[in-house]
Amino acid sequence: MEKKTGKKIFNGIAIGKIRFYSKAENQVSRTKVEDTEAEIARYEEAKQKAAKQLEQLYEKALVEVGEANAEIFNVHIMMLEDDDFNESVHNIISAQKVNAEYAVASTGDNFAEMFANMEDEYFKARSADIKDITERVLSILCGNEEGGEIGDEPVIIVAEDLAPSETVQMDKSKLLAFVTRLGSSNSHTAILARTMGIPALAGVEIDHSWNGKIGIVDGYEGVFLVDPSMPVLEEYFKKKAADDEQKQLLQTLKGKENVTKSGQKINLYANIGNPGDLMSVLENDAGGIGLFRSEFLYLEATTYPTEEEQFQAYRKVVETMGGKKVIIRTLDIGADKQVEYFNLDKEDNPALGYRAIRICLTRPEIFRTQLRALFRASAYGNLAIMYPMIISVDEVRRIKEISVEVKKELLAEGVEIGNVEEGIMIETPAAAVMSDELAKMVDFFSVGTNDLTQYTLAIDRQNAKLDEFYDAHHPAVLRLIEMVVNNAHKAGIWAGICGELGADTTLTETFLKMGLDELSVSPGCILPVRKVIREAK
Ligand code: PEP
Ligand code: MG
Repeated sequence: MEKKTGKKIFNGIAIGKIRFYSKAENQVSRTKVEDTEAEIARYEEAKQKAAKQLEQLYEKALVEVGEANAEIFNVHIMMLEDDDFNESVHNIISAQKVNAEYAVASTGDNFAEMFANMEDEYFKARSADIKDITERVLSILCGNEEGGEIGDEPVIIVAEDLAPSETVQMDKSKLLAFVTRLGSSNSHTAILARTMGIPALAGVEIDHSWNGKIGIVDGYEGVFLVDPSMPVLEEYFKKKAADDEQKQLLQTLKGKENVTKSGQKINLYANIGNPGDLMSVLENDAGGIGLFRSEFLYLEATTYPTEEEQFQAYRKVVETMGGKKVIIRTLDIGADKQVEYFNLDKEDNPALGYRAIRICLTRPEIFRTQLRALFRASAYGNLAIMYPMIISVDEVRRIKEISVEVKKELLAEGVEIGNVEEGIMIETPAAAVMSDELAKMVDFFSVGTNDLTQYTLAIDRQNAKLDEFYDAHHPAVLRLIEMVVNNAHKAGIWAGICGELGADTTLTETFLKMGLDELSVSPGCILPVRKVIREAK
């Protein structure tokens, strides 16, 4: 048995088979071939196999994310049949007498670059699709097909690192736990693990020989055991049973109010990443959704989600929540959340760079599409909109101008719009300091403590080496939160927290004393926080 330690990302115990997850790296070299016909046949066979895989993915996506989102796989199948692409591959093989891998990789590079240089945003975005189908065919040719698939049985995923876009694409019913070598406690992948409510550890020294062995993840102790002995396994089966029982006990808090012994009430909402998380929101009895990170709709896609696709996703969420508040945050892409089709430049300081509202205000067509979808969905429930990464009064003024225009446009089209609260995230020190002014312009504040801590303490939340310095309990952070709440109340608006700190039960009493009106936490944290609220004086 091997024992490793790591940083605790989400508590809980998982026991199961280890599955190594690695993004297949297709190493392609140029080699000469004699039989070019045979090489072309290899290519054709790989292409057929790729088309079959895409058909299967289409069927899976149809069930899991609906027809509109599944359509992309049909587009990929069509691209595989593109005459120009195929001609280029065949030509390179025959004219240069080289291997199929090289011909596919060069064709893919050339076509992707050609699309990337086009003016039209739609065609530009096709560049990512070309890369995608090229990688798929290459994986088949190189025998790397296992790559990102996680198989049929539930497994403990062990990886070097996981990008948010990879994590969201995994079939959640097959995930027992995540164990990664890299990754910080405050990264978006860590947040996703918490939202999914699955045990997770980061910073674990991993070893590829573990693949297929039995592992135990103890998210309470930060321990990962590989190939455990029978007595250890038995001990952990007992621990897991006790853990399940504890979770069961928390269930008795369902339907109970979030009220202290002295009668102070607070709203307890859930953070989600996509409509698939709704089940756990309902199961954990959240009073609403305090943060829907809408960017995950963009991360799951291979091109800009259309207004209709977004509208369907937002409508589903507000309808399912049946009149409870649903706060949807507008696009917060950039920094660690990258998607190829946005064609964002590489930056020296991405966390301080072109992200979130900065992208929306400079590429208003993306912003307007999202706002149209949001306002349309508002007629189906209690929808509120929240804008991320605000630093100034001027930004809020510009946002409001666009939002008013979009609403006017929709009303002129005869579209029904609900009564939408519009608020901002307070996640930069600038916004916290300006919160007296900002409070006069919006309906609510939600403090994003993950970024507020990062920017206040000047500590990159992604940098695992700095985890010990990333102290969200720092008095500077707590003072800013208190100031924000006071300024909100002076202006007659409400203030909540939607960063991870909201779920920190050692601070629940402090937040109650500060007078916060709402805490929005991962669905799995709702009942533990409710327990502490009900025990507080
Ligand atoms: C935050 O910064 O606290 C927040 C909730 O936003 P995100 O973690 O998505 O950046
Ligand atoms: Mg943030």
